[in-house]
Amino acid sequence: MGEILQQINKKNLAKLKFHDLAFAIEGNELKVNLLRSFYFKIPLAALESIGRFYLINESELSFENISQQKASLLFNQLLANYIPNLKNRLFDKQAVYVHKKSGIPLIGTAFIGMTDRNTTCIEIKPITGCNINCIFCSVDEGIDSRKQIDFIVEKDYLIEEFKKLTDKKNSEFIDIYINSHGEPTTYAQLPELIAGLKAIKKVRSISLITNGTLLSKSKIDELTAAGLTRINLSLNAVSQEAANKAAGTAYNVEYVKKLAHYIVQKCELVIAPVYLPGVNEHEIEEIIKFAKFLQEKAKFRVILGIQNFLPYSAGRNPISSILMEEFRKRLEPLEKKYNISLLSVPEDMQFHKTVPLPKPFKKNDKVKAKIVSYGRFFSDRLAAAKDRAILVPNCKAKVGEIVNIKITVDKHNIFYGRML
Ligand code: SF4
Repeated sequence: MGEILQQINKKNLAKLKFHDLAFAIEGNELKVNLLRSFYFKIPLAALESIGRFYLINESELSFENISQQKASLLFNQLLANYIPNLKNRLFDKQAVYVHKKSGIPLIGTAFIGMTDRNTTCIEIKPITGCNINCIFCSVDEGIDSRKQIDFIVEKDYLIEEFKKLTDKKNSEFIDIYINSHGEPTTYAQLPELIAGLKAIKKVRSISLITNGTLLSKSKIDELTAAGLTRINLSLNAVSQEAANKAAGTAYNVEYVKKLAHYIVQKCELVIAPVYLPGVNEHEIEEIIKFAKFLQEKAKFRVILGIQNFLPYSAGRNPISSILMEEFRKRLEPLEKKYNISLLSVPEDMQFHKTVPLPKPFKKNDKVKAKIVSYGRFFSDRLAAAKDRAILVPNCKAKVGEIVNIKITVDKHNIFYGRML
């Protein structure tokens, strides 16, 4: 049986140490925690097939009477065998780890990796899943999400692929938006990811789109020290009642407001509420006053950008939207009254067109592809071909299978397909 070893005096011990994994013994299993938010389990009996083992500390294991090289090889095989059982601790949902050897390309889906809409902005999506439950969520994340599978991307894989993508762009600069289908602050290596992205020559700015609830002063310090330019805070109300209503759950608005005061001393802040008729429209003036108050004390720029609620077929749409014209008619008087811009984007935050990223296939093409994982539902599959991921809804093919797919959607290198 595995045990915690206080003193290691034995010879012939292979020691394995990990950065991204943490271990704990639970009953007859070794719980392997991946990047704090994800876990899977390995039966102790499977570990003992390698050799008598010891848990030295939470990131270090050792095996008796085996060479370092062999222990490493066998333990990595065990990790590969059991990682398909990965779960997101947030709601104990099944999860997929997208890493260099996973065979899952980082361009091709809307929910993981990178989205390049042929402008100077690239969206980076390292993780899915959200800790709150906004009633208007355009990507149906959070507590009531219907999504069955979450994804997490290996930091170094994301940085390397992003670098390759920027090399293909003809622009002088790139603005990154970390814009997860979910809450990006649940990604344990966010500071390291930001530092890695910021080190790439063309990167002009990095914005983080967050609901703010999982931030703290020390986290803000870490993120800004790593190179974060701007926090886009989805603050939809300033009163507790309306904030809870918009978030679809308890949302500690006083805490987030306090953090906003701290953010503006550390980096730029965009307050980005969604205008929700019947939910927070009576809050808009108070949000404006809050933004004005922050602007007076801020070391960095504070921008208020109000967005109109738009329904999305895959999102939650509990209210009716208003036309853009009506939205503008409601906000323009407030811009005048408070002498604040609510609808325009500052020059240095606008996107500029770039040479389109080539598409290796287009709508109606027939493509041979390999099934590499589930999609967001157990009924979906992700396929890979020519360095692109293709989401195939209602597909029963097995992971590893080679299939023929007809491409049904190809917009902005986001691909959907149908199995033939
Ligand atoms: S914070 Fe964003 S991802 Fe999370 S539920 Fe709200 S809108 Fe969706």
